[in-house]
Amino acid sequence: MGGTITPFPGATASHRPRSLVPQAPCEHRQVTADGRIVCRKVARGDAEVSPALCASCPAALAGCEHLRFTLRKYAPVPIVVRYGGGRTEVWGDAPPAMRFERAACALRREPIGSPADCAGCALRATVPAVAAAQRQRQSAAAR
Ligand code: SF4
Ligand code: SF4
Repeated sequence: MGGTITPFPGATASHRPRSLVPQAPCEHRQVTADGRIVCRKVARGDAEVSPALCASCPAALAGCEHLRFTLRKYAPVPIVVRYGGGRTEVWGDAPPAMRFERAACALRREPIGSPADCAGCALRATVPAVAAAQRQRQSAAAR
């Protein structure tokens, strides 16, 4: 009892949020009958998400309504290195992150490999909830 609740990041990309509330939950995030929080944009494999995973979501980072995508959870397999003296080190012990499984721009009709492909794009149609969150951040920074 009395545990800490870590909020998920607000609604983001392609995302087409139905609510204009800045911190509205991502429309792709769902709760299953057995109490797991999953992302319906994960094409295959484990679809369970956490606040950290959603914070790494490339669709959220791109933040454009023209983006069409599926996701996969990338979990690097750590390598345990054992030295002669009995010392061990774990390499590549990075936390899991979201990656695009497949993504394309519906407007330009081009594949999107990462959010960097959308950087500086003049055709961006920022998801309303993302735009509202950005305005909030800018006004907080200006104070
Ligand atoms: S991984 Fe991305 S699309 Fe999926 S629920 Fe999280 S923010 Fe939404
Ligand atoms: S390339 Fe431009 S229009 Fe297409 S999804 Fe990315 S930001 Fe949006």
